[in-house]
Amino acid sequence: MARLNINLLNNQFENAPPADILRWARVTFGPKVVASSSFQTQSLPLLHLISQIYPEMPVIFLDTGFHFPETLAFRDELQAYLGLKIIIARPPVEKSHLIARYGEGLYRHDPDLCCYINKVEPMRRALIGFDAWISGVRRDQTAYRQELSVLETQRNGPLKIYPMLNWTREQIFEYIQQHQLPTHPLLAKGYRSIGCAPCTRPVLTGDDDRAGRWPGSDKTECGLHFKLTYAQEEAR
Ligand code: SF4
Repeated sequence: MARLNINLLNNQFENAPPADILRWARVTFGPKVVASSSFQTQSLPLLHLISQIYPEMPVIFLDTGFHFPETLAFRDELQAYLGLKIIIARPPVEKSHLIARYGEGLYRHDPDLCCYINKVEPMRRALIGFDAWISGVRRDQTAYRQELSVLETQRNGPLKIYPMLNWTREQIFEYIQQHQLPTHPLLAKGYRSIGCAPCTRPVLTGDDDRAGRWPGSDKTECGLHFKLTYAQEEAR
C-alpha cells in the first residue's frame, strides 16, 4: 500500500459524503479494511452504505455478553436484510472466570476495566491483519468526538476511518426514513443510544442521546475510540 498523506486526505474528506469515503477505503485497502458496529438504530446508514458499496467488507460485532436480547435479534435481522458479513468478537475468557477474579458487577465498580476486558481488548485482537477500521462515530455524539478527524492514525493499530463523522443525528434519521430502514426495537421505549444492558438507560425527551450511557457517572466512552498518545501505547 502506498504511503498516505493523512493531512491532505483529511482536508479532502472533511466535507465529503460518507459514500465517497467508503469507495476510497475500498480502492485503497481492498480486503484489508474492516468495519465495526454496535447494531443500534443510528448504525443503520453506515451499514446500509456498506451493503451498497462494499458488501464483502466484514463488520465486527463485539459480543460482550451483556447485550440486550433485542440488540442480538436486531443484529441478526440486519445481517439477513443487508447481507452483511459479520465477525463476532468475544473476550478470550469466560464470564465465570471474570466473576471469580473481579467479583459480580465489574461494570459497576470498575466500568473502565470492564470495557477494556470486554470491548477494547477483544477489538484489538479482531483487528489483527487489517490495515483500516471503519466506524460510525460522529462529532455530534460527545465533546470528545468533536476533536476527531475523518482519518485517525494509530501507532499500533489500523488506520481509523470515520465516514459519518460530520453527519448529524437529524441526517441519520432522515436517511433511515428515506431508505425505509428498520429500527432497533428499544428505540420506541426511549433507548436512543444502546450499549450493554447494565450500562444503558432510556433517556427523557430533550436529553442528549448518549445521556443514557453509563448514567450517574462521568464515563462517556468505552475506550474503543480514544486517541492514544504514543506514550500511552508504549505503556501497554
Ligand atoms: S458497557 Fe458496561 S457492561 Fe459493557 S463492557 Fe462497558 S462497563 Fe462492561
